Amino acid sequence: NIKFPKPSKTRLIAVANQKGGVGKTTTAVNLACALAEYGAHVLVVDMDPQGNASTALGVKRAQGMNTTYDVIEGRVSIEEAKQKNSHFKHLELVPASIDLSGAELELANVPERNTLLKQAIEEFLDQTKQRYDYVIVDCPPSLGLLVLNAMCAVHEMLIPVQAEYYALEGLQQLLHTISLVQQNYNSALMVSTMLITMFDRRTLLSREVYEEVKDHYPQILLKTTIPRSVKISEAPSFGQSVISYDPRGRAQFRTVKLPWRLQSGRPRY
Ligand code: ADP
Ligand code: MG
Repeated sequence: NIKFPKPSKTRLIAVANQKGGVGKTTTAVNLACALAEYGAHVLVVDMDPQGNASTALGVKRAQGMNTTYDVIEGRVSIEEAKQKNSHFKHLELVPASIDLSGAELELANVPERNTLLKQAIEEFLDQTKQRYDYVIVDCPPSLGLLVLNAMCAVHEMLIPVQAEYYALEGLQQLLHTISLVQQNYNSALMVSTMLITMFDRRTLLSREVYEEVKDHYPQILLKTTIPRSVKISEAPSFGQSVISYDPRGRAQFRTVKLPWRLQSGRPRY
């Protein structure tokens, strides 16, 4: 039994990178499960119309199911939309469905369109008396309205960076967008963490990517890297995280240590 330091306030984290396939969903889901395994209360909000986090956490889409789409359009509360996870008692998920992709256009003229998720999460945390230790938002691969909602709703951004050629491409644009959100909508927002995913220690490229990101963002890059692993990629097809799918496997997400003492003030990029 590993002791889990409970945060005194709910930590709100968005996992974002406008590039697809870099490991956002894998990170959001497995980190959530690792934290839940330690005994934390965790809510995952699936903000991607593809619904990959929902699938990976074992939620089968059904007609009439309440989703993130209903939550941000104000039809239901998070309380009414969240679903339990069958492997971890303290893990819950607000599932997403493809109709969420229509939200960007439908909400284009709503004045408070950027803060719909923020309002829903605040209401939920008030109602549940801050019983949740973590809220983790899985973002779609874009910098559109859904991601903006996530950035307005959280305090921390976790950016997964794939150990691949062109890894840093697009990172500047992402950080620029985050700083615009800081200036205009959410002064509490900070990039707390970067995490190298699909790391292959045998390749020079992986090590080069790690070193390059470390040179640019030394304060926020985690020492832990996520290895490329067949088990990690198989787990979602069984509606599971690698935490429950491969309980005796190499530590992977269990060893991800989120920065505990957040730096005060704005991080410099
Ligand atoms: P994103 O959410 O950024 O689009 P995903 O988390 O869905 O990215 O990952 C993209 C693909 O790569 C998925 O098929 C996933 O299973 C696979 N994948 C992610 N991380 C790993 C890893 N560490 N090892 C092997 N496959 C991985
Ligand atoms: Mg994804």
